[in-house]
Amino acid sequence: MRRKIIAGNWKMHGSRAENTQLVETIISGFAGDDGAECVICPPFVYLHEISRQLRDSAVKLGAQNLSAEAQGAFTGEVSAAMLRDVGCRYVLVGHSERRALYGEDDGLVARKYAAAQAKGLVPILCVGETLAEREGGHTHPVIARQLDAVLAVSDVGTLARAVVAYEPVWAIGTGRTATPEQAQDVHAFVRERIAARDAKIAADLSLLYGGSVKASNASELFAMPDVDGGLIGGASLKAEEFLAICAAALDGRVV
Ligand code: PEP
Repeated sequence: MRRKIIAGNWKMHGSRAENTQLVETIISGFAGDDGAECVICPPFVYLHEISRQLRDSAVKLGAQNLSAEAQGAFTGEVSAAMLRDVGCRYVLVGHSERRALYGEDDGLVARKYAAAQAKGLVPILCVGETLAEREGGHTHPVIARQLDAVLAVSDVGTLARAVVAYEPVWAIGTGRTATPEQAQDVHAFVRERIAARDAKIAADLSLLYGGSVKASNASELFAMPDVDGGLIGGASLKAEEFLAICAAALDGRVV
């Protein structure tokens, strides 16, 4: 059975004081569920402290980025092993802000995915098209290129321990959400493309949608057959809103 996953990407927000309150509320609102995972991805500097706060809770920890290198003279970088060391289970790979603002190309994203896997982190591989690409009718080819780059470096079997997040760039932080039909179309495309290599891996893979998900639109998105949860940016910084999105992913069973 595919797991429902709700992952919160805090981006570069928060402070120790704000985080304590936010995490406390999320922990007490998310009881846990066999079929679901709730993940929060704070900035690097807060991971260790939050990892301690999450101990004995059902909420899992993720990072927003990692180095493609294992260790060495890479000033400012953070390795997969370090993330494991401070209690991370997940890591975002290839977020569109990393691709657009920090020059992460498909090749580097593929290396980061492999680096995460090598240390037992579950990569949340982000893919998505820009508005110009969508309007030019290139959505499927762009997604295919981003996926294929990863699968050129890592075996399709690694997707048994990975998550894919479809995040149309035009929907991230814009308030403009993909329609459930637009999300379903790309999710089905991703699953079919992976099924061409391995049908079982594709059937079991959790595919998240990200891009201006809110409590008010989460249910209709998560009702689509190939949408298995969400990657949530802005709304993950508001505990009640984030918990309501978790509840939507679980048909209200958890919160
Ligand atoms: C994101 O940062 O991955 C994201 C989807 O942001 P938002 O929910 O704010 O659009």
